[in-house]
Amino acid sequence: MPKLLAPKGTYDILPERAKCFRKIEALARQIFAEYGYGELSTPIFEYTELFQRGIGETTDIVEKEMFSFTDRGERSLTLRPEGTASIVRAYIEHNLAGSGGVGKYYYYGPMFRCEAPQAGRYRQFLQFGVETLGSSDPRVDAEIISLAVNFYRRLGIADLDVNLNSIGCPECRPAYRAKLIATLQPASEKLCRNCNSRLERNPLRLLDCKNPHCQEVTKKIPLITETLCPDCRDHFEVLLTLLDGIGITYRLNPHLVRGFDYYTKTVFEILAGDLGAQNALCGVGRYDGLVAECGGKPTPGMGFAAGVERLLMVLEARNLLPQVKGSPHLYLALLGEKAQQAICPQVIRLREAGFLVETDLLGRSLKAQMKAANKANAILTGVVGEDELTAGKIIIRQMEAGQQESIPLTDLEQYLKDFFRTTNISEK
Ligand SMILES: [Zn+2]
Ligand SMILES: [Zn+2]
Repeated sequence: MPKLLAPKGTYDILPERAKCFRKIEALARQIFAEYGYGELSTPIFEYTELFQRGIGETTDIVEKEMFSFTDRGERSLTLRPEGTASIVRAYIEHNLAGSGGVGKYYYYGPMFRCEAPQAGRYRQFLQFGVETLGSSDPRVDAEIISLAVNFYRRLGIADLDVNLNSIGCPECRPAYRAKLIATLQPASEKLCRNCNSRLERNPLRLLDCKNPHCQEVTKKIPLITETLCPDCRDHFEVLLTLLDGIGITYRLNPHLVRGFDYYTKTVFEILAGDLGAQNALCGVGRYDGLVAECGGKPTPGMGFAAGVERLLMVLEARNLLPQVKGSPHLYLALLGEKAQQAICPQVIRLREAGFLVETDLLGRSLKAQMKAANKANAILTGVVGEDELTAGKIIIRQMEAGQQESIPLTDLEQYLKDFFRTTNISEK
């Protein structure tokens, strides 16, 4: 029989690894709460049209990377390739703008893209992010960038490279676009095929082409920051002042762009050190036109999205993976069928009382069970053999101190309660 494997581009998270994932998720949720974001959980799949409108029909994602399928009612559905479109859809659907004020939402969950798998890139991947809807204030931009920086700093990544740009708005971008075409057109034979076909339609997208010949040409582009309208210029200047005030170091990067009209003003991307574009930890920016594009009232928005797998790669490379201790409070070594069966209900009761209790399920020798207790890093070990059972006793050993005593079995729960209240040993 052929071996059954996980589908290409997917992976299993084994228990040890899962602890790292949980730790990162817990930190993200904690920071979202500190910054006042509430969780908005949306379905894993949506009608395909949402992503066509919300991401853009000519993007790589929509053109070739979506997992789409037809349901029994002949409707086209798609596994979500990112989080923003669904948040915007929910915001409109539940009329969240109607309650007034600013909506601050976060999401955390699996996304799906049919890409060629490579290091840190999968077809099912974990992504999280925040979206702030309803305010065009540059303080929103500063808050979101600082939230992201804060998150990575707390994980211990010190060499963050914050890239920043403004891409203007539908008012001032056409003038820049024209300037860009005028500059790039004469060198068009040096550009790659992809860039040539985009030159007239969407010249901004040429700026992040990875082809070295194209990069050579786009090195000398006019700066968009010189063409910004007064509103966009003010917004950008205030943002830079705010970031200086917060103490965030950034790099102005004129090649950082988004190719769609609903993206406006601020775009940003955070990389880990100098490890290159493959190690972009998070990015995105302001999208003042997106809610209207998806059928809502014009509403300014700003957000960021971050991948978990690439983050783990970066943490691993720097030896920064979060350490997670999961030591059992008590490992029960049970000898003989009688003791195993008699103590089983007590194991369950202790767990219900909140103690992490492990026990042998293979009927192994005392030596093997003590070895297992050591391996599991148990804080206490209990031994019950037939003699102890007859006497109603249990031998308790404090693993670190090496002390041993015999106590009545009926006192075990109270013993654990006293022990873990009076020692400094962290409980979990
Ligand atoms: Zn503008
Ligand atoms: Zn190119």
